[in-house]
Amino acid sequence: MKIAFYDTKEYDRIYFDKIAPQYGFDIIYYESRLNASTAVLADGCDAICIFVSDNADKETIDKLSEYGIKVILLRCAGYDNVDLKACEEKNITVLRVPSYSPTAVAEYASALMLTLNRRIHKAYMRTREFNFKINGLMGVTLRGRTAGIIGTGKIGKIMVEILKGYGMEVLANDLYPDENLDVEYTSLDDLFNRSDVITIHCPLTKDTKYLINKNSISKMKDGVILINTSRGALVDTDALIDGLVANKFRGVALDVYEEEDKYFFEDKSQEIIKDTDLIKLMAYPNVIVTSHQAFFTDESMEAIAQVTCDNLKEFEQGLEMKNKVSEEYTKK
Ligand code: NAD
Repeated sequence: MKIAFYDTKEYDRIYFDKIAPQYGFDIIYYESRLNASTAVLADGCDAICIFVSDNADKETIDKLSEYGIKVILLRCAGYDNVDLKACEEKNITVLRVPSYSPTAVAEYASALMLTLNRRIHKAYMRTREFNFKINGLMGVTLRGRTAGIIGTGKIGKIMVEILKGYGMEVLANDLYPDENLDVEYTSLDDLFNRSDVITIHCPLTKDTKYLINKNSISKMKDGVILINTSRGALVDTDALIDGLVANKFRGVALDVYEEEDKYFFEDKSQEIIKDTDLIKLMAYPNVIVTSHQAFFTDESMEAIAQVTCDNLKEFEQGLEMKNKVSEEYTKK
């Protein structure tokens, strides 16, 4: 099978080059991201491999179908950037890597929580300039405080364990509560009302877009810490900035951002950034923005390459495809 690999970074090649030859797959690496204009790069291939910033909308899918693409390999868990209906119409199979890094993401979200609370990002900058004053760096004790987890799937469940390890009370909200999870499930409103830390671990769907908005922010405690490692559009950036101006938050950590496609994963340090919302967010001392790196561990990269190749092998050999994503699947 021949794969057109979009949005390639050096680290992708290292892990895929180690594993793909064992399966007999031939990969053509492209730095370009997938969109309707770059779909032509896949001409003559059987599959494409894409990541979170690639855009597989209807126009792109129609073109990929013309070029003979039969499979889309997502080297990530989220599939909000793929028009699944268009794929079904064109008989293109979509396969994903559902659980390469739940621990990596949960550990990272907890690192962001600790960093924000104890202002470690500020301390690091200060001591580099030999400023050893600690005023303004005071935190609060997290033990005994309440954390609210939205989405208790693979990542959310590990988050429950980690936060309980800190001695926090843990509330959760999920469309499908897990009876075996030792956690208090509650309504979103109650979670917003009672939580000192809110961490989002649900997918971006049409129902969860702007889950964090003006109304939900108004229900949160003053001094709340908000962490989003899921998808940018779960948070309404304008409402978030209004909340920051009103000093609502003790801290906000974003590993994902609504408009991240234009910036994340690239070096933009020599360019004029035109996204004024991003500039505003960066200007707040109690905001940390990172570039969608929660998943980024050695173990995750190995798992991504391995599972992506297994997915294609299952397709090639007509085996059961356990990681298939379909319109029907998303309604479960
Ligand atoms: P998962 O599918 O195992 O769990 C998601 C949970 O969210 C499920 O329990 C589901 O029932 C729940 N959910 C769905 N809609 C909901 C709603 N409206 N309200 C409340 N709960 C809802 O997914 P996961 O592996 O835990 O990943 C969660 C998200 O993390 C992914 O969708 C992806 O967007 C994001 N992610 C980010 C990174 C990163 O590097 N930053 C890496 C991997 C995944």
